Parts: sequence; structure tokens; C-alpha cells
Amino acid sequence: MKFSEQHEELRRSLQKFIEAEVNPHVDAWEEEGIFPAHDLFKKMGDLGFLGVSKPAEYGGLGLDYSYSMVMAEELGRIRCGGVPMAIGVQTDMATPALAKFGSDEVRREFLAPSIAGDFVACLGVSEVGAGSDVASLTTTARKDGGDYVINGGKMWTTNGTQADWICLLANTSDGGMHENKTLICVPMKTKGVQVARKLDKLGMRSSDTAQLYFDDVRVPQRNRIGEEGKGFTYQMIQFQEERLWGAVSALRGMERNIDETIEYTRSRIAFGKPILDNQVVHFRMAELKTEVELLRSICYRACEEYLAGNNVTMLASMAKLKAGRLLREVNDSCLQYWGGMGFMSETGISRSYRDGRLASIGGGADEVMLGIISKYMGTLPRPVKSK
Ligand SMILES: Cc1cc2nc3c(=O)[nH]c(=O)nc-3n(C[C@H](O)[C@H](O)[C@H](O)COP(=O)(O)OP(=O)(O)OC[C@H]3O[C@@H](n4cnc5c(N)ncnc54)[C@H](O)[C@@H]3O)c2cc1C
Repeated sequence: MKFSEQHEELRRSLQKFIEAEVNPHVDAWEEEGIFPAHDLFKKMGDLGFLGVSKPAEYGGLGLDYSYSMVMAEELGRIRCGGVPMAIGVQTDMATPALAKFGSDEVRREFLAPSIAGDFVACLGVSEVGAGSDVASLTTTARKDGGDYVINGGKMWTTNGTQADWICLLANTSDGGMHENKTLICVPMKTKGVQVARKLDKLGMRSSDTAQLYFDDVRVPQRNRIGEEGKGFTYQMIQFQEERLWGAVSALRGMERNIDETIEYTRSRIAFGKPILDNQVVHFRMAELKTEVELLRSICYRACEEYLAGNNVTMLASMAKLKAGRLLREVNDSCLQYWGGMGFMSETGISRSYRDGRLASIGGGADEVMLGIISKYMGTLPRPVKSK
């Protein structure tokens, strides 16, 4: 993967922004259990960070996907997982389908203000009874005149208490599970949308996560993204960007934790020598560094294939799977070598340990990734036909 001076410029300006506008506040936001999404997103929107690969006619920078990947990688410099995840929802999880398949009208209404940072977006796929098994969701959007009337609920919605609109996946007919779904943009202020509760979490504490109810919520049918009945397919396409984002955004945090663990163990003396000087410790750091570079390679390769117009579902699933597992390995190993300090809330590694655990669950659990990879390998068992 070759990066241009423009890529490097994006890296530098995002790093500068993170150091000035994000990292000084992260501890307070983690403590409060929420960050000011409107305030931060407006600042990011003004600098063009929320639409690097989005079409210029809606305020995006119109650059190719490699710039989004650079952005995801640099967001890993934020010293928590919650804030980058919230930004990722805005740029790479709730808006890719809208940008690709939405009508001009719906893009002007929802995409343009999200790129500008005037709107906060969230994504409503998961439900209390349907997480891994997306197709089994039960929220309905029934047609009535020119409107959809939505009933149901969504669970674990990132940005859900602060969002201005939700990219909602709902059943719009009784047809087959993969052909009956539609993505709809729903303003969160619409009558009948209820933020039932803000969920308390193990990690990602600065990101707000909500349970939502929809009770006879009426929105015009023109708020639909693309064609009716194509929602499941659009969401699966949208998941490619979400999963790549998830993998790439994990890299810098892991590198930081490895570097900081090296620094700490170099200065901490036990049994008359730095802890780092035990071969088991510096070899482990070398091993983990190697693994992170391998993850970077698969991410960059997936990005190149995606830019070439190829389906990267398998590569993106592999990258997401590897990122979730590696985060657990890196964070656990590093925490171990911080000893008692690793268990203290004041050290970055303890936050990473809590935040990183989500990667093997959210956006498709490890087992879902393994299922997708198996499907592409042709090894998923098929029902045996009776004679
Ligand atoms: C902090 C946070 C933020 C989130 N943000 C959003 C969001 O913004 N929008 C949204 O729509 N969703 C969001 N989610 C939901 C997330 O995507 C789901 O939690 C995830 O897809 C897993 O679904 P589930 O929790 O229902 O797990 P389940 O489907 O109940 O699965 C439980 C576990 O069973 C195992 N499992 C599942 N399927 C299989 C299988 N086929 N074979 C073997 N094992 C299996 C896996 O280990 C899985 O972790 C978020 C979740 C969290 C925790």
C-alpha cells in the first residue's frame, strides 16, 4: 500500500487535532460516561474529518477509501476506545449505505449534515432478540399512505442518547428474511421514538449506548435508503466498511500499549534487573509487535482490494476476527507485565483491557466472522437432502 503526501497530511492533521481537542478530555469523558458528540463532531466536520471518502456534492472530501482507512488508523491514537468508536459509527457504520444508495433528497437531509458535524448519527441493527442473527430482527415498518409506521426496538445503539437520526434496519414485508428488510433514516426527535435507557458498560465508557423503542413512529417513505427489500444486502455491504474500520482502528492502540509496556518494564527493577530484561518479556513484546504488523498487512491488502472494486467480505471478516483476538492477547499480556499497576484504573492498559474486549463481540462476534469465512471457504455444513 503506497501512501501519498496527501495521506500523510491527513495523518498529521488528525494527530494534531486528537492531541489538542480529544486526548486532554478523555479522562473526564470516561468518568462522565459520555462525551459531547455534537461539540466534537462539529469541530471535526469543520475540518473535513467526517466525510473524507464521502461525495463532494454532500460536503465530503471525495477521496478514495484509503483515506478513510488512514483516518481509522490515526483515530487509534485517542487514549480510549469509546470516542473513536462513536466517530466510526458516524463515518463508517451508519452512513456508507446512505452515501452509496440513498436518493439525492435523503442524502441532502441526513448525509450532508452528518458530514458537516451538525447531525450525530447512529445505527440500529441489533435488537434484544437479534444480534448475531441479524436476519431474525422483528422491528417492522408498515406502509401507510406515503409513510412508514415503525414499531419495535433496538438494543446497544452506540451514540443512541445523543443522535439526531438513526439508520434503521426494519422489516417492511413478510417475505423471506433476506428480502424483506429496508434501511430507513429516522429522525430521533420523531414522535414515538423513545430512548428507554442509557446502558452501563464494562468498557467504552465515554461512548453512550442506548436501548431504543419505536412506538407507531411515522416517517415519510422517501426516508428509505435505496430500494425497498434491499436493506439486508445494503447492511451486509455496509458491514464490510464497519469491519475494516474496526480492524484498522485497533492497530495504534495496540502499538501504544506495547511501547508503553516496554518503557514501564525497562524502568521497573525486580530481582536486580529491569523486568524487560527477562527474555520471556522482551520476546513476548517482539511477538506481539509482529502480530500487529501482520494485522496491518491484511488491513492494507483488504483496502487495496476494496479500492479495486472487489468484494472484500472474506478479508474484512478475517481482519475483524484477528483484530478482536489480538486485542485480547496484546492487552492481557501487557497488563500482566504492568503487575499491580496494570490493575489500577489510572493506567491506560487497564482501560484498553476493558475497551478492547468489545471487538470480539460488537459488529459481528468472532464466531460470526468464522461463519462468514467458512462460507467463503465452502466448508459450512449444508442440510442433507433426504431421498
Ligand atoms: C458497546 C456496544 C456497542 C454496540 N453498538 C451497536 C450499534 O451501534 N448498533 C447495533 O446495531 N448494534 C450494536 N451493538 C450490538 C452488537 O453488534 C451485538 O452485541 C453483536 O452483534 C452480538 O450480538 P448479541 O449481543 O445479540 O450476541 P448473541 O447473538 O446473543 O451471541 C452471543 C454469543 O454467542 C456466540 N455465537 C453467536 N452466534 C454463533 C454461532 N453461529 N456459532 C457459535 N457461536 C455463536 C458468540 O460468541 C456471541 O458473542 C453494540 C454492542 C455493544 C456491546
